[in-house]
Amino acid sequence: MNAPDDPGDPDAPEEPLTCARCGRTADTLPLTWTFSVEDGRRVYFCEDCSRTNLRAIEGRLDSSWW
Ligand SMILES: [Zn+2]
Repeated sequence: MNAPDDPGDPDAPEEPLTCARCGRTADTLPLTWTFSVEDGRRVYFCEDCSRTNLRAIEGRLDSSWW
C-alpha cells in the first residue's frame, strides 16, 4: 500500500536527476542524457557518461538483447 519508492508514472520524474556515474545533476532531463531501468529504478547518465556507458551496454547486451 504505502510505497514511497514506487516508480509510479514513468513520465513524471519529480526527484532531481543525478548521473549514476559522475554525480552530475539536472532539474530536467536533457535530451543528451540517457536512462536505463535497473531493478525497477531509473538510472540516469549524463551526456559524457552515456557515451562511455553506451559502449559497455552494447557490448554487454550483444547477443542476449537481440
Ligand atoms: Zn555523468
